[in-house]
Amino acid sequence: MREYFGGIEAGGTKFVCVIANDPNDILEEQRFPTSNPKETISKVTAFFKNAKDHHNIRLLSIGIGSFGPVDLNPSSRYYGFITSTPKPGWQFTNLVKPIQEGLKLSVAFDTDVNAAAIAEGKWGAAQNIDDFLYFTIGTGIGGGAIIHGKPLHGLIHPEMGHIYLVQNKEKDHYQGKCPFHKTCFEGLASGPAIEERWNLPGWQLDDNHPAWDLESDYIAQAMSNFICTFSPERIILGGGVMQRQHLYPMIRTKVQQYLNNYVVSDIITAGIDHYIVSPQLGNRAGMLGAIALAQSLC
Ligand code: ZN
Repeated sequence: MREYFGGIEAGGTKFVCVIANDPNDILEEQRFPTSNPKETISKVTAFFKNAKDHHNIRLLSIGIGSFGPVDLNPSSRYYGFITSTPKPGWQFTNLVKPIQEGLKLSVAFDTDVNAAAIAEGKWGAAQNIDDFLYFTIGTGIGGGAIIHGKPLHGLIHPEMGHIYLVQNKEKDHYQGKCPFHKTCFEGLASGPAIEERWNLPGWQLDDNHPAWDLESDYIAQAMSNFICTFSPERIILGGGVMQRQHLYPMIRTKVQQYLNNYVVSDIITAGIDHYIVSPQLGNRAGMLGAIALAQSLC
């Protein structure tokens, strides 16, 4: 009987379930919109049960990369929960336990961005790098940190999308989109912030629209803060907003300007094109990350 791992990319708008061993061995995947927790979780367990019978395979374990905030501390009474999310109906939802019990398999649990970071480290843009950061810049902004080869959790887990930035008051009077902090990184630079500020979604703004100067500035400001705090060896920028390829060179130049030769490394100067990069796994990073999490249990 063939053996596979199960992965769940639990997102605020959709859930992706996948059965795979690596990017070249994906047996089946299914995505469905995120409804209420009960219905969504029962769809998840049904998918794996049906697929197992249909393909006549053995599932070894399950990995979940989830939207958050989540509780990752195994000794906490809320371990495996989605906690203070603004998503209606999902506050303090136990995600791990019903899936563990429903499938009778061990379950590894982490944030969606940590999972994507693990996948990029294993199969994508950060192979053989021990310390790096992965960001998704889209509907929200989230960051995963791999430190000494492991995802950083700490107190809860990093929330790198919610740091405060200096708003460009001359060019930008936008009030901010984050329901918690208004003009944090996500509040200023997420896809919905771009849309609300300019009354048009980002994909409708051409490459020389002033939106991108502001956008690259906020992203660069955040990245120079993270370079100074984590000292990453590489930064991967993914998500819907980063589909706009012209942002990468703008961000790289502005990061150099913000750092102003203070962080002395050839990688920041001559090597920056290979330092701030796009993901290699594209929109499969999240679900492959869930597979990598499942594999970490074996
Ligand atoms: Zn915020």
